[in-house]
This record gives sequence, structure tokens and C-alpha cells, in this order.
Amino acid sequence: MTPLQAVVAKRIRREGPISLADYIALALLHPEHGYYVTRDPLGQGGDFVTAPEVSQMFGELIGLWCADYWDRMGRPARFSLVELGPGRGTLMADALRAAAALPGFVDAAELVLIEASPALRQVQQDRLGPYQPQWLTSLSELKPQVILLIANEFFDALPVRQFTRRDAHWLETMVGLSDDGDELCLTISREPARHTPLLDRLYPQAQDGEVAELPAAAISMVHEIALRLCQAQGDGAPAQGAALIVDYGYYPSRAHATLQAVQAHRRHGLLETPGEADLTAHVNFEALLTTASEVGARTWGPLNQGSFLTALGLEERAAALAARASAAQQQAIAAAKHRLTDPGQMGVLFKVAALTAKATPAPAGFAE
Ligand code: SAH
Repeated sequence: MTPLQAVVAKRIRREGPISLADYIALALLHPEHGYYVTRDPLGQGGDFVTAPEVSQMFGELIGLWCADYWDRMGRPARFSLVELGPGRGTLMADALRAAAALPGFVDAAELVLIEASPALRQVQQDRLGPYQPQWLTSLSELKPQVILLIANEFFDALPVRQFTRRDAHWLETMVGLSDDGDELCLTISREPARHTPLLDRLYPQAQDGEVAELPAAAISMVHEIALRLCQAQGDGAPAQGAALIVDYGYYPSRAHATLQAVQAHRRHGLLETPGEADLTAHVNFEALLTTASEVGARTWGPLNQGSFLTALGLEERAAALAARASAAQQQAIAAAKHRLTDPGQMGVLFKVAALTAKATPAPAGFAE
């Protein structure tokens, strides 16, 4: 067993089988052996590449989206610019550089980063130091002021629970031990899961044998964001603010298993190398948007990433960059644009949704 498998096995011996969500949380964030704690998965030779690492245009357009929304909100004098899981800080660095085109935006922004990985926090400090970021461990620590929040490929990294439909009940997938106690294995709980109203609502027609995921951690996070967006500001000003969520995922809900382990761009067994492989699940956008609107926020989208970036002016930005680039750079810009927007690449699988306070204007890229 690897060190982390041994940690998991010890816990199972003590407590019995644990939920898949608990297993994912250990594999990704165990303080000593967790995947995100011990490495920068986006760096040279990393396990995956995200949109901001593909091209500066991605972060720039999102920066302009934020600046535009700040303008639409009447340019509040102070606000929290929050990023969830900022990775190498690339998106935020590109966003702030572009958003500086709107005078006053950068000065009004208090940069807040929510990052679980000490390794990545260091990379973010190196990259974003001049903007004096503050790191928080939870959204509950945010100041009571307007927020603009962005999250790219964050929600797919949050633990999901997995259930199988049997005899009109949901049975949860658990991680247990093989009979000889030497190996981790997947098992199905014998007792039906209780308190599953959201699962029942998302999958009213579920058939025996179907598997569905419940993005439990993402739902609590969206709940908190939506509450925050709907809260009136301390000085009696109306509730304002917006959140932009970009990730690979699906809408509407569809009963299927999407959790996978990815190492060096290849799939691995879920239990094979905890702490060494990324564990990621496709984001159920319907579950997140339903949660946000139940709390009282307004929801927008999801749109396909390709359509969203095009609506924000990707073509124009690419043309402007290409106009002052060498032939080789022009090829790289065209390739990046293709990768971000092509339906066979990131254009359709990746989706973009926004949440806003109830009575605030439509964010750029989304129709009224
Ligand atoms: N947004 C970046 C990085 C995506 S990878 C980009 O687009 O390049 C996922 C990021 O979320 C990493 O920074 C990871 O360390 C962070 N992360 C994962 N789970 C987290 C959690 N529970 N709390 C805070 N940060 C988390």
C-alpha cells in the first residue's frame, strides 16, 4: 500500500467503510500526502492543463467581464475580488492586467484567494504579490462587502458522493477493505441513503441500476456564495455582486458516473494511487444553479465556453494580439483560440454559468 492508502485503510478499520466523498477529500487534501498539498499539478510536466494556461486571452476576457460588471454595478468604491482555487495565479494576473484598462477597478478591488494547497499558495504569492492578496480558508471569512467571484476548474476538484438506484432507494458507493484487509475496494452501502431530496428532484425517473453523483461539497460552496450575493451590504446599500463559474460539466442532470483519476493526462483506477493522481468529477451545473436559485440568487447560463468567449470578444482580442506577433506566435494564438472554443476541444464540454444578486443587471455574455 502507498502511504495514503495506508492512512485510508487505517481509518476504515476504525470507522468502517467511508464515503467516496471522504476518500476524495483525503486523496486531494490530506495535510501530508494529499495530491494538491504536495505538488503544483499545473506546472511543467503536470497532470493537466487549464484554459488560463492555454492562453492569456482567457484570463484577460474574464478580467474585462469583471471590470464591466463592476461598472454596471455603479463602480462600488471597495469590493472583494475573490478567486476560488487560483492554481498558478495565471488567470488572475491576466485578468487584473486587462481590467486595469478601466480606471479605478484595480484600486477598488481587494484581492481574496481561497486556496487549499500550500505549494500553489506560494506560486500565487510570487505571481500576484504586488496586488497584496489575502488568503482565506473559507468564504465565511469574507468581509461584508460587494463580491465579484471567479472559479475556473475549481468545482470539478470538490468531492462528490455517488449513489446507485435500487428498489426505489439510493445506495451510496463506499470505500472499504478487501476480505484479506490488504486492499482498498469499492462497495455499496447496504442501508439506503437518507435525506436525498435533491437527488430525488434531479433524477425523478431514475431506473434500477443507474448511478448518479451528488456534488455535496460544491453545493455547500454555491449555497454560501449565493447567500453572500443576496446579502444587503453593511451600510444599507442593496445586495450586489456576481460569481462566474467555468468548468467541464453537464446540464441538465444526467444519471452517470463521471468521477475519474487523472495522472499525466491519462486515466487511472480511482483507488490505485491516491495522492498521486488528480480525482475529478464533471460538474452538474443543474445541481449548482438549482441550489443558487433556491437561496434567492439569479442564475445565468450555462453557456458553452466557446460561445461565451466569442461573445466577450475572443476573435477581436486574438486579432489584436496577432497584429503585433511573429508568424510563430500568430500560429500559437490561432491554436489557442481553437483549443478554447472548438466543440471537439474545450468549446462545448466546458460551460460557463453566472450567479448574481436578484435585482442586479445581466452580466456580459449572458442575455436578459
Ligand atoms: N483555477 C486554476 C486552477 C485549477 S486546479 C486554473 O484554472 O488554472 C484546482 C485549484 O483548486 C487548485 O488551485 C487547487 O489547489 C484548488 N483546490 C482544490 N480543492 C480545493 C479546496 N477544497 N479548497 C480550496 N482550494 C482547492
